[in-house]
Amino acid sequence: MPRDTDTMINASPSLNLHAVIPSSRVNGPGKRLVVFFQGCRRNCAGCFNPQTHPIKPKNMMPLKIESLFSSYLKPGINGITISGGEPFLQSAALKELLKTARHEKALTTVVYTGFTIEEARASSEMSPCLEFIDVLIDGAFDKNKKEPSLLARGSTNQRLHFLTGRYTPSDFYMPGKAEVLIAKDGTITGTGFGTITLHGAGIARHLRNEQAKSI
Ligand code: SF4
Repeated sequence: MPRDTDTMINASPSLNLHAVIPSSRVNGPGKRLVVFFQGCRRNCAGCFNPQTHPIKPKNMMPLKIESLFSSYLKPGINGITISGGEPFLQSAALKELLKTARHEKALTTVVYTGFTIEEARASSEMSPCLEFIDVLIDGAFDKNKKEPSLLARGSTNQRLHFLTGRYTPSDFYMPGKAEVLIAKDGTITGTGFGTITLHGAGIARHLRNEQAKSI
């Protein structure tokens, strides 16, 4: 069962998001819209995204589900991946997001969570979400069990649960472990399950220039 400290944040239809990546190839099969939820209480040592932990209004980006898709869903996207933070802390909004993604946008659905699937199934708040998930990757990140292969998970204790027949394990071996995304304003973002090291401002400038050529 979920711990006391993991009680659900809200039942609001709004989403409290940390960030959105409109197109990624390293967060699940194909080209995916990636949505990072804001808020997590686990504090796993070595967490790849500690900025997502605070559950404070000043760190949140409230967004309606409809506007998420109208703002970020591009042509050619196969599915949505939801990560965090802890998506299940916003179970009501998570369920609506997944339902809309599957039934209205024809997207496949992948969710990363620190909860185990057993905890999700036992929770009246979390379990309704499972109906709309194709693949659930469960369990909190363990820095002592880092994933050594190209499988799209942070550590080997995390399990991939194929809840529909849409994907198989081989679909979760990513061609690259990590991506560097460069926005038109020059903002550089790393995503995926590998380590990205940029050695100094010179490389950052070079990457920005290369990106500028390809836009
Ligand atoms: S559950 Fe995920 S987001 Fe939360 S602390 Fe652990 S690794 Fe970080």
